Amino acid sequence: MYEISEKLRELLAADLPVAVLTGAGVSAESGVPTFRGDEGLWKQFQPEELANVDAFLANPELVWNWYQYRRNIISQVEPNQGHFSLAKMEKRLSSFTLITQNVDDLHRRAGSRNILELHGNIVRNKCIKCGRQYENLPESEEVPQCECGGLIRPDVVWFGEMLPQDIIQKAFLAAEKASVFFSIGTSALVQPAASLPVMAKNRGAYLVEINVEPTVLSSHADEFLQGKSGEVLPVIIRECGLE
Ligand code: NAD
Ligand code: ZN
Repeated sequence: MYEISEKLRELLAADLPVAVLTGAGVSAESGVPTFRGDEGLWKQFQPEELANVDAFLANPELVWNWYQYRRNIISQVEPNQGHFSLAKMEKRLSSFTLITQNVDDLHRRAGSRNILELHGNIVRNKCIKCGRQYENLPESEEVPQCECGGLIRPDVVWFGEMLPQDIIQKAFLAAEKASVFFSIGTSALVQPAASLPVMAKNRGAYLVEINVEPTVLSSHADEFLQGKSGEVLPVIIRECGLE
C-alpha cells in the first residue's frame, strides 16, 4: 500500500492548480516498449540512428517502416490505470495541465483533453516541405507524398530538432502556476522537460515524483512515491476524493 501524505491530500482537496509531467514509464504497463527494449527486427538499430532528419532523407523508407512498426504496436495496446487516473484528475480539478514526453497517444485515448505533447504524436504526420498535417494515413510500405510533392514524415520531434516553442512555453507557464507538480515515469534527464519539475518547485510548488526507482529528481521531491504509476495513481485518486 502506498502512503499518501496529509499535505498532498489537503492540496488536492483545496483544488489548487496542478501540473503533471509524464514520460515513457506511464505507458510501460500498457506494454509500449521503451527505446531500449527488445525490438526484434529493429534491434540492430539505435533509435538515434533512425529518429533524425538525416536518416529520413538518406533512407526515407527505412525510417517510415520503423514508425509503421511502432504504430502497429501502439494500436494494439490499451491505456492503463495510470492514464485513466490522470484523465479523472483533469475532470475533477479546475486547473490541470498534462505535459507529456510520450508520442503514443495513450493519454488522449484514456480521456485526457488538455495535453501538451512536447515530442509530438506518432499518429500524426506532416509534409517535410510545406508542413501540412495528415492524420492516420493508411498503412503503406512506401513513404507517402504530399500534394506539394514533399515527403510525408511522422509528426514527432526527432533527435537534434527543436521542441514546438508554443507548447514548451505553455508547459513552463503551467509549471510556474502549479501548486502541485507531479513528475511521473520519466528519468528526468531529457531537457528541457527535465527542468519543468525543478522550476515548479523553485516557484513554490509541492513536488511529487512517482517512479519505480529513484531518479536524479528524487532527492529534490517533497514526496517520492516508489511504485508503478498504474498502481500509485489510482490510490491517489481514491484517497484524495477525485474519483
Ligand atoms: P525514460 O525511458 O528515460 O524513463 C522512463 C522512466 O520510467 C524510468 O525512470 C523508469 O524507472 C520509469 N518507469 C518504468 N516503468 C514504470 C512504471 N510502471 N511506473 C512508473 N515509472 C516507471 O523515458 P522518458 O523520461 O520519457 O524519456 C525518453 C524519451 O523517449 C522521451 O523523449 C520519449 O518521447 C521517448 N519515448 C516515448 C515512448 C512513448 O511514447 N511511450 C516510448 C519510448 C520512448
Ligand atoms: Zn507539402
